Amino acid sequence: MRFAAGQVTDMGRVRERNDDSILVEPPLYVVADGMGGHRGGDVASQIAIETMQRLEVEGRGSLAEHVRQANRAVWDRSVEDERLSGMGTTLTAARVDGGSALVAHVGDSRAYLFRDGELRQVTSDHTLVARMVRSGEITEAEADVHPHKNVLTRALGTDETVEVDEESISLQAGDRLLLCSDGLTGMVTEEQIEAILENTDDPQRAADQLVRAANRAGGVDNISVVVIDAEGEGEEPAAPRRRVAAPSATALRRWGLRIGIVVLILVALLVGARVWLDRQWYVGPSDGKVAVFQGIPLTILGFDLGHPVQVFDGLDAAEIRGLRLYPNFDQGITFGTREEAQQQVDQMQTDLEKAQQQKPPPKGAGG
Ligand code: MN
Repeated sequence: MRFAAGQVTDMGRVRERNDDSILVEPPLYVVADGMGGHRGGDVASQIAIETMQRLEVEGRGSLAEHVRQANRAVWDRSVEDERLSGMGTTLTAARVDGGSALVAHVGDSRAYLFRDGELRQVTSDHTLVARMVRSGEITEAEADVHPHKNVLTRALGTDETVEVDEESISLQAGDRLLLCSDGLTGMVTEEQIEAILENTDDPQRAADQLVRAANRAGGVDNISVVVIDAEGEGEEPAAPRRRVAAPSATALRRWGLRIGIVVLILVALLVGARVWLDRQWYVGPSDGKVAVFQGIPLTILGFDLGHPVQVFDGLDAAEIRGLRLYPNFDQGITFGTREEAQQQVDQMQTDLEKAQQQKPPPKGAGG
């Protein structure tokens, strides 16, 4: 299994600080949503993330153990610095390994599995309203609009110890994991999230689209999103290949269309030119004889635009030149109809006969 990820953490449209922190260090992915007045929120989420990253590099202990140590690091800091007293953070971490993902979780950030077009929440929210939904006190719809929906029952760093939820998910090629802060899920319905994940192949683009949707819906909180795609082993990922193929097929079609149009225009011009040429006539020399040509007396790129349709074998071109009555004869004398061209030849014949009659008889012939 190969993995590709997209990530965004965004301040949103209302808050003036981003208390969320994210980590994308394959195989580890983390979203943390800090809370606490003053600078507490962003400090808590940053300490949690940094601790997770450091322990991952050191490579000792389970993922849940890393989360417990992150809890301790935030707690210690809040005890050391009274300005940071009471700070805490959510933390949702996924570590992918071959065909599975281990998810560790505290708070109300969420992990979802998107498989075969369907979105399933992997984590349970550690909130008062989620507890009330589980006990049947309120419905999920009521929870969504409950005035205390942000009250956490569990957070990282607010106590010396913390209980960490852990879940292992087996992954298939094509699966998508989504880690997000409540700035996404508080603004955008799961149906909208599902539609975006369904319609956006690229994980980074999917993350961008999710954050855009949350901001469009108001963006009242910081929004963090990590999208992790599980792709087939060894081979090139199916989705990116489709993405590459689709535009190039479109481009090819577009080019095909352009070439087709150009060819059509050329054919139309050639047909038009041919129709026009077929209505042009001229009289000129052909192999030493006088001829009527169809077309125009011009050669372009080796192509004669005129061709003889009638050659007068009894009428030598040299004799017509000798008359000096037709200075344009060699270039071709043009006419609009074949009849006019024919009449020109008749005229030449007549002129030639006249000239021969007027020619004085050879010396000595008359006695
Ligand atoms: Mn939040």
